[in-house]
Amino acid sequence: MSERVSDIRIDAQFDSGNIEVLEVKGASATLAIPRDHMSEFRQWFHFRVAGARGRELTLTITGLNDTAYPGGWPGYDAVVSEDREYWGRAPSSFDKEADGGALTIRYRPDSDIVFFAYFAPFSMERHHDLIAAAAASPGVEYRCLGTTLDGQPIDCLELGEGGQQVWLYARQHPGESMAEWWMEGALEVLTDPADPVAMGLRRLCRFHIVPNCNPDGSRRGHLRTNAVGVNLNREWHEPTPEKSPEVLAVRDAMDETGVDFAMDVHGDEAIPVAFLAGFEGIPSWQDEQGEGFYRYQRILDRRTPDFQTEQGYAKSKPGAANLTMSTNQVAERFGAVAMTLEMPFKDNPAAPEPAQGWSPERSKLLARDCLAALLEWLGDTTTESPAARATAETWQDDERGRS
Ligand code: ZN
Repeated sequence: MSERVSDIRIDAQFDSGNIEVLEVKGASATLAIPRDHMSEFRQWFHFRVAGARGRELTLTITGLNDTAYPGGWPGYDAVVSEDREYWGRAPSSFDKEADGGALTIRYRPDSDIVFFAYFAPFSMERHHDLIAAAAASPGVEYRCLGTTLDGQPIDCLELGEGGQQVWLYARQHPGESMAEWWMEGALEVLTDPADPVAMGLRRLCRFHIVPNCNPDGSRRGHLRTNAVGVNLNREWHEPTPEKSPEVLAVRDAMDETGVDFAMDVHGDEAIPVAFLAGFEGIPSWQDEQGEGFYRYQRILDRRTPDFQTEQGYAKSKPGAANLTMSTNQVAERFGAVAMTLEMPFKDNPAAPEPAQGWSPERSKLLARDCLAALLEWLGDTTTESPAARATAETWQDDERGRS
């Protein structure tokens, strides 16, 4: 058999695909990451390599020093899949000095088709699978909040019979795909009729869940912006139909329901652990409202080693909160306990998992812990089962009957 010398082929014209091919030579390629449309942001990549079965691929992504978060590249391994179900890691090395900052990915696929991405993609097709499955679950109501600039629906799922208005929303930043994996995990819990955490939460809360706030950016393969290059998480003070109809739709719906508890789900490029950011610095800050956030943070910290409080964002000084960001706006506007959840693109050094790093699976597990923490946060009495309550009520009736 003669040695194969044909060039590999690289494609990215598909849902959330994003790469520019500068050069291909045999099983090596020099690549760059295109900017989000009408924006300077760039960091998300997702592409397919064909024709490399059994060959050592060397893929070099160049020009990374002026990406949105250059701190995302050191210590980062690219995500790879041959079946688009299991996403592992391909050993990658970052050289700040080479080609304006170059990430070199090395991988020897067993198949002629292999996909690489910044994080395990969550496609719009999978989004529709998620919405359809949840909408078909007992007790779930579907609501379309509005339409994006590309004409996609802004999907919202509602469930629960309680009075606590809980808003969970994700993927304002479309390249942070772990946020929608988190949503898949959360919806699996909440729509499971036999899940005791879900039973308690459905009894106490009315959930409003927007698994993807930025479908256009998601389909276009953007890191951070919508169809017209707007960062949605800087639009919450004054959203407009022209620039940020997604935020306007979600915020209008929140105005209708009010908000008691809100979680905005994201990923952070540089910090390799999961953490929460609160709403310090809002004009109407009350210690009691703030303590509601800190108490939730403590509960989650106790529940899972995949969450921590040592690393995170700096808190805003009194009065200095940026009200264009959703967590600050929602805390200020509704007096809600609002928070931003950040998950890593890298791996948790305290509990490393070299084969996958931070993964869809861990994002989904963290969602379970976040919901269990919410139930605990809402109060210990609420964890008692409906059966136990029924028994207690029966006893009460008996007492009354005897008197
Ligand atoms: Zn984000």
